Amino acid sequence: MDHRLLDIIACPVCGGKLAFNKERQQLICNLDSLAYPVRDGIPVLLENEAHKLTQDEKAS
Ligand SMILES: [Zn+2]
Repeated sequence: MDHRLLDIIACPVCGGKLAFNKERQQLICNLDSLAYPVRDGIPVLLENEAHKLTQDEKAS
């Protein structure tokens, strides 16, 4: 995924910055503890597509 995207995309729930987890191919909102999927390099910034971060994901 293009890292410049990270400068312009924001969490649709809180409007905060997202962190990209390259290993898991997902975008993390630490404020909401949500992970948004990245499919074929396209971030899917939909709340109903996101899942709650597990303890394991929070640690990484
Ligand atoms: Zn958020």
